[in-house]
Amino acid sequence: MKQVKYIKNYIGGALVPADSGEYIDNISPFNGEVYSYIPDSDASDVQKAVEAAERAFPEWSSCGLEKRYRILTRLADIIEQNLEDFAYAESLDSGKPISMSKSVDIPRAHANIRFFATAIMHFSSESHHMEKSAINFTLRQPVGVVGCISPWNLPLYLFTWKIAPALASGNCVIAKPSEVTPMTAFLLAQACEEAGLPPGVLNIIHGLGPKAGQAIVEHPKIKAISFTGGTGTGREIARIAAPMFKKLSLELGGKNPNIIFADCDFDKMIFDTLRSSFSNNGQICLCGSRIFVERPIYEKFKEEFVKRTQFLKIGDPFSPLTDLGALVSQSHLEKVMSYIELAKVEGGEILTGGTIVEGDEKTKNGYFLRPTIIEGLSPYCRTNQEEIFGPVVTITPFDTEEEVLEYANSIDYGLSTTVWTKDITRANRMAEQIQAGVIWVNCWLVRDLRTPFGGTKHSGVGREGGLEALRFFTEPKNVCIKY
Ligand code: NDP
Repeated sequence: MKQVKYIKNYIGGALVPADSGEYIDNISPFNGEVYSYIPDSDASDVQKAVEAAERAFPEWSSCGLEKRYRILTRLADIIEQNLEDFAYAESLDSGKPISMSKSVDIPRAHANIRFFATAIMHFSSESHHMEKSAINFTLRQPVGVVGCISPWNLPLYLFTWKIAPALASGNCVIAKPSEVTPMTAFLLAQACEEAGLPPGVLNIIHGLGPKAGQAIVEHPKIKAISFTGGTGTGREIARIAAPMFKKLSLELGGKNPNIIFADCDFDKMIFDTLRSSFSNNGQICLCGSRIFVERPIYEKFKEEFVKRTQFLKIGDPFSPLTDLGALVSQSHLEKVMSYIELAKVEGGEILTGGTIVEGDEKTKNGYFLRPTIIEGLSPYCRTNQEEIFGPVVTITPFDTEEEVLEYANSIDYGLSTTVWTKDITRANRMAEQIQAGVIWVNCWLVRDLRTPFGGTKHSGVGREGGLEALRFFTEPKNVCIKY
């Protein structure tokens, strides 16, 4: 798979520039340099993609499960065989450590495709028997041409998480990666050609969210939108799509609590809390950024957590020793820094971090921030209520279960929660009462792709994963036969 200086859209099986002929700079966050250019696409490119998808749909939706399975598994194999190229591109675009791209992002991307290629072979629908009179069965048919829009934090990982179930269930797709991290989606287009995906089945449009992304949402022939990104963007997408009666799946922001009881396995907890705080620089929607610790172990936790955080190595994403790479962009770094300033105004004490890392010769213009731990804030202040999406966490002591439940639920978001305790009854009690779509007990980010995934409240609408995704991308039709 080859990186190029001028990225192209993938429409009707061909790699083409945007109709406008314009490009946007693609900046590598680890050195701040423009290293490639992204097509500045608009509604006219989306229109061409929709026409290509409509041409491809009759054949793709009726070619049979086995053919779709074979092409998609071939695509997964090609990504796996080109792990090095994909991982390098992902780190160059996003600033994340190459070790993470190689062990998490790219393996998960081909796993997503393989998972849904296989899942569709086992997908079945329900029947409802009416004694001595009739049988109903549910036909599940592909929706048609669908839109998939994904963010920059886990670029190929989340892009494939949407595209794979859409394609496996027979839809044709118009997909847009974030313009901040477009390169692996471009490599994917090359892989699709090699895998023999028929032209028009998958179309990839690059460009700006409010222009190219919005054109996808607005297009009347695109019947469903699967979106992952910020809550504000999700709200705007819902506003446009709802009056057009499009199917919508929205995976949005989070501000997740980690709830740590004194009876937990301390070593396991501290290891995973470090991961859930700072993996990918906290730029994972599932990171736990509000850490509540039961008072008897609060001081011990604080000391150990700060010490381990200070050991994390920040810098060149291409060094095997790096734990944390660069934040994704200058503007995102500025946003995260503004929350650190806000925390100070709100009375927080910075226990460690909070400052920019001056890089070496290679990385001196990169966007590096020391992982930051803040204490002394009210659970209800803005720093604790708004999504920062960076390497910034707050720690707060608590005394009772009721108190910590109130803290955990006192927020508009409801994506995930981690609970640490050896008391299984308490764990179950908490799991029942916490307002979130995903609960982890004594672990974090353990993912089974068959499970429903998504958030409550302002963290989203609908669920992805397993059968939920296949149901989203198919239209149920009840057939009633009287006998
Ligand atoms: P954004 O909402 O800014 O962007 C997400 C995608 O939407 C990008 O491709 C973006 O394009 C596009 N977009 C932006 N504006 C529009 C629009 N008006 N119409 C259509 N598409 C648009 O999110 P970020 O990329 O900043 O990602 C971070 C957010 O994603 C965080 O809030 C995080 O919590 C959330 N997230 C949620 C997950 C979940 O599963 N719940 C998982 C991962 C992240 P472009 O970037 O080119 O502007």
